[in-house]
Amino acid sequence: MVRVRCRECFMCIQSAPDDWACTFLTGIHEKPFARTRPIGRSLFGRMPATDLDQIVSLCKRRGFVYQSAEIYGGFRSTYDYGPLGSLLLRNVKEAWVRSMVQQRDDVVLIDAAILGPPQVWQASGHLANFSDPLVDCTNCKQRFREDKLDDPTTCPSCGAKDSFTPAREFNLMFKTQAGPVEGAGSDAYLRPETAQGMFTNFGQVLQTARKKPPFGIAQVGKSFRNEITPQNWIFRTREFEQMELEFFVPPSESADWYEYWCNARLQWYVDHGIPDDMLMLRPHDDDELSHYSAGTSDVEFKFPWGFDELEGIAQRTDFDLKAHSEASGERLDYFDPQTNERYVPYVIEPAAGATRTMAAFLLAAYDEDEINGETRVVLRLHPRLAPYKVAVLPLSKKDTLTPLAQKVRAMLADRYMVDYDETQNIGKRYRRQDEIGTPLAVTIDFDSLEDDAVTVRDRDTTEQVRVPISELLATVSGRLGF
Ligand code: ATP
Repeated sequence: MVRVRCRECFMCIQSAPDDWACTFLTGIHEKPFARTRPIGRSLFGRMPATDLDQIVSLCKRRGFVYQSAEIYGGFRSTYDYGPLGSLLLRNVKEAWVRSMVQQRDDVVLIDAAILGPPQVWQASGHLANFSDPLVDCTNCKQRFREDKLDDPTTCPSCGAKDSFTPAREFNLMFKTQAGPVEGAGSDAYLRPETAQGMFTNFGQVLQTARKKPPFGIAQVGKSFRNEITPQNWIFRTREFEQMELEFFVPPSESADWYEYWCNARLQWYVDHGIPDDMLMLRPHDDDELSHYSAGTSDVEFKFPWGFDELEGIAQRTDFDLKAHSEASGERLDYFDPQTNERYVPYVIEPAAGATRTMAAFLLAAYDEDEINGETRVVLRLHPRLAPYKVAVLPLSKKDTLTPLAQKVRAMLADRYMVDYDETQNIGKRYRRQDEIGTPLAVTIDFDSLEDDAVTVRDRDTTEQVRVPISELLATVSGRLGF
């Protein structure tokens, strides 16, 4: 028996015999795929956003994500992360680094350059192969990525039939020039992935970090792709952030580590609050695999338009180290003193998008419930991801409460990102904090001046408890889990 989900209708998930076929929609879908289920929460009782617009407008209204250069009409497919979005994005990246680097003793972090010379991209194969098939509609003159068209015979913009030009390959790398003199010698590229920085630095890291395979090099940072059809808000943009690990292993251990990383990466999303019903692991079909890949699986998330990729986990064999070694003339291998063997390690690469993942966390966290007959919007973000961990809310703006409220704020802010808000009535302030996902609110009232205690309110249950200020830090840390 395997856990399967049908790739046609995305609905059937069940334990099934190996020859199972989906009958959910119009007939039998022939290619259900095996699905590893993470251990975690189900969606029961939640109402995640079903429409991207719900999240896009909340994010604009509350200061998570803005259209870039909006005062000039906006710059297509580029976004700015506002006061809350920049914190959320930073927390997504920190949660990744925490689990991929901090909590392990076999992974180190680097921060490589974004600008690179053509030699790197020549050796990696990006100059020759990093392209998408581009088609033009001869009727409305719009351009599309052929492999992403729902119906390759119909233009999704104007509806014209058979109006597409033959596909031509379009390289996705942004080319620029380094230095004041134009010419072939000054060509440079913005990296389209962070991965190559880990391969080109392999030798130096091996020497300086005193690691041996199996070990990994991780990196978080910006990447740039001149996408033909950027779409779906921050899902596919031309400038985005990635979180990638290159995990170097003895060739004979490659298959086991691949399985390990597939499961570990799927579980990471569940551990950070995405209900397991909204995730799946989809092994690539043979015709999807890159030429060097011995196997790739995508972690997919149930976006409003269907399941789509959050992260790819690839077995890249020794392709990259060998390619850079041949092109640079540098030795990029490992000598094992125990076996007296020299070998080029194989690589398992879990490659995730930070900005795309942030969209998924927001969509999954969105919920609506009813409090005292009123609909409330609440972002049930995992406390590690929430932009603010605690809101400090003096009941009134009166000067009498401010000194104590500020003292409580300073005490909490030493350890956590805190929002201080003294405007509007307390009900409205709670709603605002619910909507931006703040897990805890601390209210200072006039009794606080007498009893040195405050009220702590829980975002998810709206339960309120009275806590002495002397125990506040311990209570907050106990409830947040850190
Ligand atoms: P896609 O098929 O969606 O174009 P990909 O398979 O080319 O993605 P990878 O090269 O494997 O993507 O990159 C790893 C991760 O980086 C992706 O899973 C995704 O989360 C993120 N990513 C890639 N391209 C973009 C983009 N244009 N905008 C935002 N995130 C991206």
